[in-house]
Amino acid sequence: MADPAALKALLEQQREPLKTGTKALSTYGTPFLVKPINTLGALGSYNLRQEVFADAVAISGEEMHAHFHDKDTTCLKCPVACGKQYEVREGELAGLKAKMPEYETIFAFGSMLGNAHAGSLARANDLCDLLGLDTISMGVTLAFVCEAVERGWLTSDELGVPFGWGDWRGMLRLVEMTAMREGFGDRLAEGAWRLAESVHPEGTRLVYAVKRLELPAHSARALKGMSIGYATATRGGSHHDTRPTPQYAQNFDRRSPDGKPEFAVRSQHFTAVDDSLVLCRFTSERGFGLYVEEPYARMVRAITGWDTTVEELERVGERVINLERLFNVREGVRRGDDALPWRVMHEPIPDGPSAGAYCPPEELDGMLDRYYALRGWDADGVPTPGRLAALDL
Ligand code: SF4
Repeated sequence: MADPAALKALLEQQREPLKTGTKALSTYGTPFLVKPINTLGALGSYNLRQEVFADAVAISGEEMHAHFHDKDTTCLKCPVACGKQYEVREGELAGLKAKMPEYETIFAFGSMLGNAHAGSLARANDLCDLLGLDTISMGVTLAFVCEAVERGWLTSDELGVPFGWGDWRGMLRLVEMTAMREGFGDRLAEGAWRLAESVHPEGTRLVYAVKRLELPAHSARALKGMSIGYATATRGGSHHDTRPTPQYAQNFDRRSPDGKPEFAVRSQHFTAVDDSLVLCRFTSERGFGLYVEEPYARMVRAITGWDTTVEELERVGERVINLERLFNVREGVRRGDDALPWRVMHEPIPDGPSAGAYCPPEELDGMLDRYYALRGWDADGVPTPGRLAALDL
């Protein structure tokens, strides 16, 4: 390390904000988000037909902590210890000892499926961990299945197990079947988009995905920064390209498209730099800042001895995003792929505190024009030679 004293001074200075900013995470882990986001009317439920889940309290961090908390777990030497080990002590799943389901998992297997059985969320999470499945993709794919069953597009006979809204036993069985590609699980294992294409001509209209990757638990309708953020994310459905965290702040205008392309650009640079520095998102955001700012430059200077500025780090982020885009462009991605789920573009949130929010195609178009202009990409979303040269790419 080039300058241990400088790094220590930075850490001392940020210790208090980090401690205060991570209090809820330390106590409950990410499930602390369930109640406030539901209160905002932004907790995707019943495959996005609603964004208020009437039974949210039953699957909230507070409630699960009260019933299941066994001990805290942590990554090496992290004082936050946001991980929790749960133990289910009652009911049909009594005896289960497993890692806590994160907020995203509670959304995917809970509210999205109309499922308020908290123990089953811990079990579904554990199963996915053991079997190597992504909980967001699995749960959101099952949410499509629930709605398809309700519409008569799929039947219990085809599924091989009884399944519908709130049916957690069927849910657990389908997770296992997916991992083993057993019966209907063979089709589930293809993900929501391919499954929907095979189920009904209009099936993909019910899929909550961008670039065919199922979306996480930060509303693409209620948070306009996520609308443009998801649409332009390299991976598609990801909350680790553009970040939701700043958008939950009281003073953030989450409904208007104004300024959101600018926000997405900055946020994407931040996540690219944050990942390149191999930092935990929670400790960095809450301890050192939500954007590429001076604390990150100080960190890099102290460790490497380089004379790095904030502006240089911002360009590092921009280079990463452009390289990722070039990869996608080579694979055929263009403006038309920077789209949002059909429901997000055509069905406003029906009720609750975020009622009326959505992102119609013309609004997305306007944000894309601005976003591409800010990035120096052409109207089809392809980086221009001029911009690439300016970035030394
Ligand atoms: S490093 Fe991050 S994920 Fe790990 S315990 Fe700390 S806050 Fe949680």
